[in-house]
Amino acid sequence: MDIRVGYGFDVHQMAENHPFVLGGVRLEHHSGAYGHSDADVLVHAICDALLGAANLRDIGYHFSNKDERWKGVSSLILLKECVRLLDEKGWKTGNIDAMVCLEDPKISTYIAQMKKNIAQAIHITEDQISIKATTNEKLGFIGRGEGVVAHAVCLIEKT
Ligand SMILES: [Zn+2]
Repeated sequence: MDIRVGYGFDVHQMAENHPFVLGGVRLEHHSGAYGHSDADVLVHAICDALLGAANLRDIGYHFSNKDERWKGVSSLILLKECVRLLDEKGWKTGNIDAMVCLEDPKISTYIAQMKKNIAQAIHITEDQISIKATTNEKLGFIGRGEGVVAHAVCLIEKT
């Protein structure tokens, strides 16, 4: 069996009165992550895990933040494009395990919808994707609500 593991990490700054999109879900919050696309830190970490597993470089290589095509775009579109790149090389996703690290808001009620959005984009079942969350115990830039971080690992298999 030909299998590979991949790892992804992402961080975004938070800004007051900015939309907060996480896992393709718009969260109710007074501040949100910002960046060139919709700054979906969870989806970006998953993109990098998948690209890394297939040795296809990283998200910044494929989707430059200087490229107008990706400005304000839903990161689920970028994820679909990553899956297409893997598919071209004969890789399919086994499972994904992700961790979001943020102080506020609590995201447990959003996780089912995030799993649905991501599973749909990757063409996997919701059982193949795990999304976990933790705070940073009020420490550092995450603890002060200045930023949000996500980590993801994935397994891919040769089709
Ligand atoms: Zn990002």
